[in-house]
Amino acid sequence: MASSGSSAGDVGHGAADILQALKAIQENQARLAAEVESLSQRLDTVVPSTISPTLNGKSPPESNLPTVSSLPQPALATSSKDENSAVRKQEEKAGFNSRIILTHKPIPLNWGAPGPERGPVVVSRASSTIRKRNAHGGSYSIYFALAVASKQLNVNHKPDFTNTEPAVNIGPFPQWSDKEKIVAMDPWGHLAPWMYKDIVQKEDVDIRPTIAITKAHMKLPELEDSVRSGRLVPDGKVCLNEAGELAVTKFAVEPVWYLPGVAERFGIDEAVLRRSLFEHTGGSYPEQLITRGDIKVFLPPIGMPNSRPQNDQSSAYHLLGGLTVYCFGDPAKMSDENVRLSLRIHDECNGSDVFGSDICTCRPYLIFGIEEAVKEAQNGGSGVVIYFRKEGRALGEVTKRGEDRASDYFKRTENIAGVKDMRFQALMPDILHWLGIKKIDRMLSMSNMKHDAIVGQGIPIHERVELPEDLMPADSRVEIDAKITAGYFTTGRRMTEEELQAVRGRMWEE
Ligand SMILES: [Zn+2]
Repeated sequence: MASSGSSAGDVGHGAADILQALKAIQENQARLAAEVESLSQRLDTVVPSTISPTLNGKSPPESNLPTVSSLPQPALATSSKDENSAVRKQEEKAGFNSRIILTHKPIPLNWGAPGPERGPVVVSRASSTIRKRNAHGGSYSIYFALAVASKQLNVNHKPDFTNTEPAVNIGPFPQWSDKEKIVAMDPWGHLAPWMYKDIVQKEDVDIRPTIAITKAHMKLPELEDSVRSGRLVPDGKVCLNEAGELAVTKFAVEPVWYLPGVAERFGIDEAVLRRSLFEHTGGSYPEQLITRGDIKVFLPPIGMPNSRPQNDQSSAYHLLGGLTVYCFGDPAKMSDENVRLSLRIHDECNGSDVFGSDICTCRPYLIFGIEEAVKEAQNGGSGVVIYFRKEGRALGEVTKRGEDRASDYFKRTENIAGVKDMRFQALMPDILHWLGIKKIDRMLSMSNMKHDAIVGQGIPIHERVELPEDLMPADSRVEIDAKITAGYFTTGRRMTEEELQAVRGRMWEE
């Protein structure tokens, strides 16, 4: 029959298409493999292991640095077998593999399991570990890559964790094994190298902590004023002296994402999340994000502010920072429901927090938060300030640059970035669950987004505390009025659009 004949023809035609497509994929793969091979061979030619550009203070001469297009490929093909194996040996010595190795047998990781049976998060590319990784990415991985490529770091370096154990004990709390409560950090991250000592020693697997707990003294110039003006009284325990020096316990945390949990928190499909991450990291992590659905944990690269690809305003990955908890008083009190807790969640603002620029309320609110937290601790309660590395509402300092009129404050940002804010507070409450916090007596923040995220996670907030008027820098009215009109908490009144128009920042000459 004509119809069956034509359909058979279609099938034949379709099969030929598929075959052709397969062949094209095969060729691409072969080309990619050859490129990788030649690149890794060139590593030793361009930067020989014995010459490290910064270690000896000299750079190799320009002429020794061929560009990709100028490198004659046939030269490598004609090099003798002996030369090739010598190069390979050199690479192996530096911990560099000449082939891209994919994960073979990931070490089991059961997110949400209540103890050591959870399994360690393993991301190291050390040769003894690379085939057993169960996560991908890694904090500061971009700088790590630079250090390895420039031969200043051997990828097989074994960390020595002597005397780096957590300075205080915390938990474990039931929240640690609740898959819905902690999805953006590893609840066992401070214990990993010690908890999985056997795997480290017997299987030679490189396991590293993602949380560090230390004790420190904190000294801020404003706090000396606080003592002088009588707002803070030294007690020798929390506030140590007349200089306003504070005793503090620090918990530094790097992000570890359990992808199914992160997707659920945002109410999106895991595959959509994986694909978006893959595309907006310039096609990075294909193994983790696209081809290996069984690898559920992703460590977003951090520590590269303002480094998003140009013209790409839609991705937030570049600013995924870590966080640090500053706890005043006994850390065990954070999870004690019988004592009061004062808490500030602070999102990084480098310009104000570090350099004291006067166009926003960030540093004044941070100092106020610390002061109130200290007072709570001195009264027998617990005071906590959590500092999130999310510069410029997670859009970066460039995009946030803003406008000197309150009515335009968010509009400017939205015109550039497409959104007002990319801080995504949805993942923020993880740290509260990790600290065992079940309620907040005094929330030292006016942000409605932070408030809603915390309450939405089942942690009630009993009182919200505004930044006192007299602590606001004059020029910061633009920022704070815009935020209040956009929904920030206030006991005062919200301005109308016209009133907002009148709130302007100062010119440089004034
Ligand atoms: Zn600021």
